[in-house]
Amino acid sequence: MEGFETRAIHAGQEPDPLTGAVVPPIYQVSTYAQDGVGGLRGGYEYSRSANPTRTALQECLAELEAPGLGGTGLAFASGLAAEDTLLRTVCRPGDHAVIPDDAYGGTYRLFAKVAEPWGLDYTPASLGDPDAVASAIIPGRTKVVWVETPTNPLLNIADIAALADVAHAAGAILVVDNTFASPYLQQPLLLGADVVAHSTTKYLGGHSDVVGGALVTVDADLSERLAYHQNAMGAVAGPFDSWLVLRGIKTLGVRMDRHCSNARAVAEHLAGHAAVSEVLWPGLPEHPGHDVAQKQMRDFGGMVSFRVAAGELAAVDLCGRTRVFTLGESLGGVESLIEHPARMTHASAAGSPLEVPADLVRLSVGIETVDDLLEDLDRALTA
Ligand SMILES: *Cc1c(COP(=O)(O)O)cnc(C)c1O
Repeated sequence: MEGFETRAIHAGQEPDPLTGAVVPPIYQVSTYAQDGVGGLRGGYEYSRSANPTRTALQECLAELEAPGLGGTGLAFASGLAAEDTLLRTVCRPGDHAVIPDDAYGGTYRLFAKVAEPWGLDYTPASLGDPDAVASAIIPGRTKVVWVETPTNPLLNIADIAALADVAHAAGAILVVDNTFASPYLQQPLLLGADVVAHSTTKYLGGHSDVVGGALVTVDADLSERLAYHQNAMGAVAGPFDSWLVLRGIKTLGVRMDRHCSNARAVAEHLAGHAAVSEVLWPGLPEHPGHDVAQKQMRDFGGMVSFRVAAGELAAVDLCGRTRVFTLGESLGGVESLIEHPARMTHASAAGSPLEVPADLVRLSVGIETVDDLLEDLDRALTA
């Protein structure tokens, strides 16, 4: 089988049969001429149902998450659109889900404010502990165990293979939000997960210039139902957005290597800094999820969170003082970002079991020159 980087550059992206263009064109089109009623050329009739640029992205995503397994990738307008389509495909009102007790804030809001009023209730559980997940399951009602690993923003690690067993024993499916790791670092479908969800806005796109989402599965029945809902609910990725994500994916491997090595340098540097009380990065040997992360990931990722010893106001101040790290939400782009989760990305979790510590700062470590990143943090921490 071809290696990851080869698949990232070529899967779903044969040179254009008409012109030889080596990159899939942006098919910025809504409808397709038919040769007589129902006579479709190449299977395309209307771009909500299918569009060639989106097809290229979808085939590439399937080959990255499930190489050689004939999986199905589906591209959506955003990560949350992908999640919503997934939930309303695999759950009915009256069903139950287990979710991470430190899920991404938007995912939590989708469960709490949209899915629960619709009739899907949920229990947050600490996913680092498979027994806690097993006891959060309601036999007969739990249809989904939803996993993020590493989590956002606390960078906790869940054992995907162990949780797949727990979910399957209860007749539930295991969904893994693989946004933080990307398929370069971790391939959950090969560890027993049933569906992988992505915000392609982050590492897959990689350049902070597009919002998108994706689902990948190798379960034939599930892919048929998800594809039906992708078209029936309509939250598809547009052609230009699909093209931007495909373009980003070509360099995913080299970008992730640099994200990971820069994150290691930042984490190790902060761990020895007097103004920092705790560093959360799964590559540090003292991180509680280190061994599991080492087992299921190629490297430990580009996200680093840390707690500021002087407390909440000092953490907020720090976020406004860096110069190379830009203060902003989101993550996974080439540029370094800094944010205060409790007041920014995770404000919607305030007062819930998913509330995050107020002295926490989250870094998306970019691929700039590492010495500039360390110097920037030092200057901001000592100001
Ligand atoms: C950003 C993000 C999402 C949501 O994706 P959007 O593209 O913003 O809709 C979901 N999960 C994780 C882990 C994220 O970081």
